[in-house]
Amino acid sequence: MRQLQPAAVLVVVILMGCVTSAPDEFRGTVIKVVDGDTFDVDGLGRVRLADVDCPEMDTEAGRAAANYTISWLFGRTVWLDIDDLRGRDDYGRWICVVYLDDNGSPNQEMNFNRMIVDSGHAVVRDFKDNEFNPAEWWNLSSIQPVGGCAYVGSVKSSKYHYPDCEWARKISPSNLICFSSSSEARSKGYTPCRVCKPP
Ligand SMILES: [Zn+2]
Repeated sequence: MRQLQPAAVLVVVILMGCVTSAPDEFRGTVIKVVDGDTFDVDGLGRVRLADVDCPEMDTEAGRAAANYTISWLFGRTVWLDIDDLRGRDDYGRWICVVYLDDNGSPNQEMNFNRMIVDSGHAVVRDFKDNEFNPAEWWNLSSIQPVGGCAYVGSVKSSKYHYPDCEWARKISPSNLICFSSSSEARSKGYTPCRVCKPP
């Protein structure tokens, strides 16, 4: 049996490689933010957040998204899980899931792709030609998707809710939008849920 052990270990390692993300494929400093979902990393080049989409920079929402990214990432170390299927998109940008740094290792609770969606500055767009599945960003975390949201809505409806509303809980993570205030929800065309009656 003893001689089987290295092979068994190898199988386990391979299986783990298939089912878990690899948040440490590259580590570098963010030296320029282009917009909310695109920035440059020292030593690598241009990075495009995988499977999320921010508004364009010629809109107020686009500039707000860029400011969010600047506030979290500019000048800081990030860890990158680089897409293993395509790698770079048609613009030469590395398709990545980005993690914040926690004392020299990737902080898997701080998945920036997820954070920018939770913040309301991006929506999920699940491109099937990369290795990533955005739904896992919420499933694999102990943090609930509504954490930190004053109110939530769905990209598929026009109602907004308290996060603990029974209807809010039915919103799939990939459709969830986070609002920091009722005025923000209203300004984006959402109306109060008649069940939970948010202000
Ligand atoms: Zn509700």
